[in-house]
Amino acid sequence: MVELEIEVGDEIKNEDLVRMFGCGPQGGMRRSHATNTLVLTSKHVDNVYDDRWVADVFHYTGMGLEGDQSLTYSQNKTLAQSASNGVEVHLFEVFKPKFYTYMGAVELAAEPYVENQKDQNGLERKVYVFPLRPISGGQPTLPFKKIESAIHNKQKMAHKLSDQELLNRAASKSSAGASRSVETKYYERDPWISEYAKRRAGGKCQLCESDAPFISKAGEPYLETHHIEWLANGGEDSISNTVALCPNCHRKMHNIADNNDVVKLKSRNASYE
Ligand SMILES: [Zn+2]
Ligand SMILES: [Zn+2]
Repeated sequence: MVELEIEVGDEIKNEDLVRMFGCGPQGGMRRSHATNTLVLTSKHVDNVYDDRWVADVFHYTGMGLEGDQSLTYSQNKTLAQSASNGVEVHLFEVFKPKFYTYMGAVELAAEPYVENQKDQNGLERKVYVFPLRPISGGQPTLPFKKIESAIHNKQKMAHKLSDQELLNRAASKSSAGASRSVETKYYERDPWISEYAKRRAGGKCQLCESDAPFISKAGEPYLETHHIEWLANGGEDSISNTVALCPNCHRKMHNIADNNDVVKLKSRNASYE
């Protein structure tokens, strides 16, 4: 195995990747004769491919941007033969432009298979998908923030597409069963505080003052508790920092966090004291 100064989950720049592996600076599949490796990069930021993890196997789309792909073409061939040609295969995923997250050395988990995908012009074509398995175990677990930023980038991209381009992409999505292992930080929330905040609100949203939109399964007016200063930003889980909101107002607080609303909620809570 090639000696690496990085571990799974580390994020490096392209210049470091090129230096460590002795490969070229461009392309999704980069063959290095210097280290006898094949470096695969899967971009989630500006990619038309549907690369995805299904359980512990990464389904990686081969090379060739237009027309049908071929297994004898360029590095598709190297990867297809990697069980016997002695070439080490290393995988990187890109969640934000110019940063490569190392996902480890991988091997073919099964034979490559053909899938129909639409290219960026909406034309149906055949691509080869390579099922790859990390040699050292299962799917690496990444911080949720990393995935989240890639999703936001894609949402921004999607927003800029024409209706037809958007339909082309939406209709060709083949991510059945795709899932990702992520680490999330769980903030403890005191159930007594939450219940107290809901009772105190008396069935009305503390922001818009409307009645709860429906009666929950448990027979209570449905409201959600929210921390005025978010726990993630250091806010405390206390009666004075917790409010009960209707789902619309709750989403609004998370989406735009209007300071007028924050002030209003703080003064509502202060009035109970
Ligand atoms: Zn409301
Ligand atoms: Zn909230």
